[in-house]
Amino acid sequence: PKAKKEASSSTGAIQIGIEYKKDVDFAKWYQQVVTRSEMLEYYDVSGCYILRPWSYKVWQEIQTWFTNEIEELGVEGVYFPMFVPAKNLEKEKDHVEGFAAEVAWVTRAGSSDLEEPLAVRPTSETVMYPYYAKWVRSHRDLPLRLNQWCNVVRWEFKNPQPFLRTREFLWQEGHTAFATKEEADKEVYQILDLYRQVYEDLLAVPVIKGVKSEKEKFAGGLYTTTVEGYVPTTGRGIQAATSHGLGQNFAKMFGMTFEDPQGPLPNGEARPALHAWQNSWGLSTRSLGVMVMVHGDDKGLVLPPRVAAVQVIVIPCGINTKSSEEDRIAVDERIADILKQLKKAGIRARVDDRSTYSVGYKFNHWELRGVPLRLEVGPKDVKNNQALAARRDNGEKVTVKHETIAEDVKDLLDTVQRDMFNRAKETRDANLVYVEDWKDFVPALDDKKIVMIPWCEEPACEDEIKDKSARTGLATAELQDDKAPSMGAKSLCIPLEQPQDKPIVAGVTKCASCGKDAKRWTLFGRSY
Ligand code: AMP
Ligand code: ZN
Repeated sequence: PKAKKEASSSTGAIQIGIEYKKDVDFAKWYQQVVTRSEMLEYYDVSGCYILRPWSYKVWQEIQTWFTNEIEELGVEGVYFPMFVPAKNLEKEKDHVEGFAAEVAWVTRAGSSDLEEPLAVRPTSETVMYPYYAKWVRSHRDLPLRLNQWCNVVRWEFKNPQPFLRTREFLWQEGHTAFATKEEADKEVYQILDLYRQVYEDLLAVPVIKGVKSEKEKFAGGLYTTTVEGYVPTTGRGIQAATSHGLGQNFAKMFGMTFEDPQGPLPNGEARPALHAWQNSWGLSTRSLGVMVMVHGDDKGLVLPPRVAAVQVIVIPCGINTKSSEEDRIAVDERIADILKQLKKAGIRARVDDRSTYSVGYKFNHWELRGVPLRLEVGPKDVKNNQALAARRDNGEKVTVKHETIAEDVKDLLDTVQRDMFNRAKETRDANLVYVEDWKDFVPALDDKKIVMIPWCEEPACEDEIKDKSARTGLATAELQDDKAPSMGAKSLCIPLEQPQDKPIVAGVTKCASCGKDAKRWTLFGRSY
């Protein structure tokens, strides 16, 4: 294999690095990074993957943070079964149409066919809401705010991609019901901002908050808000997480009604029962893939410190067969003390003291796995009361004093986290362009940009944009890699934050595609 990176260890074992360049062979690069970093293993069922401890820990960090935040908002944890009776799944027409093609069914148990086949949840609206309807009787039962962390199954026929598009995935799904639209709307945006924080503050990935077009909104819902990410190497947008305002649609289908708190009419007659306003919101293990794609480099994974299983790897250096016993003991003792101090400061640190591997092998090993900071400690460092810190994100090396090591390492990790986000944001911003003239649209996409246009918001216009931007200019290699049937551009979102310096003037500003009156700036892009 070309460009194979090897480093012999003292045992003669070979360290396998990443053989593909991110900029040249992105799909193969991604596959190697996620497997060789030991985040993920391919499984015998296509589209299903094993999440190994190295990635599962990142997911757990997200779970811990997010659970805490939604509890503050008053959302409680819950668990519902994974099987859906057909009659419940089919209750909401648009919803079932949106998911039907991807639903997996259990039809047999042992050797006998089930009387009624059971669907495996693709999402749990139809699992939960019959029971929400049972539990909600009066306005005093509202709001009802529940969240579950679980797996769902969507038997997608699009090309599967580790983390990004899998047939079974892990997520949280929040399902809430309110007496008024105002309360429901408020929550939709509170959750959306929590999703922004998961991406920006934990994963160091910039996202754009917005509303989905009619064509792209959740099946059966009223409106969908989204955070949209961007993968610079491929120039593609990715739906990072979604928070849906479901309106009263599901409440009507499932009979979730409550007595009007105003009481009976002046003439003594009961007022008609009201329907609850509902939301649902989900963030999946797709987030891990976006993190890998945005931050990884030719050496492998680059983990943001806040979610890394190991934030600091300490490696004894400068010890060899000629080293004195005194030096060995001094380095061992110093490392033990460093670990103790880092642990006390809440830093996830580990030592690689395997004597059967060379220092070079260990450097590669932990770089491939994306550990944010490496601390090198040798006999000289002990004498000088210092250690050498090397950053994974930019390769920079700095000396840290032993006296202040916990504080300094903490500061360094914060700096790495901040720098990773800022770099990713600069890159994203540099690849987001404003286009008002159709002739500039496809060239911008071909240049791997995401594109803001003044848009009419008509579904027919979105179809036309997709057709007009399909295939042209795509390198054949890229088409083969992605096996995408068509790589036309979709609307990613209508950003909540509209550009202040380029106002859309009603009746004057025209849609960049069809020439009708434009409503808002809308972000388009080729996407995952
Ligand atoms: P939805 O309920 O369809 O809005 O999905 C919620 C979130 O799950 C989406 O915003 C995606 O980020 C993510 N997601 C959807 N489909 C998949 C999939 N096949 N694999 C991984 N994540 C997914
Ligand atoms: Zn238009």
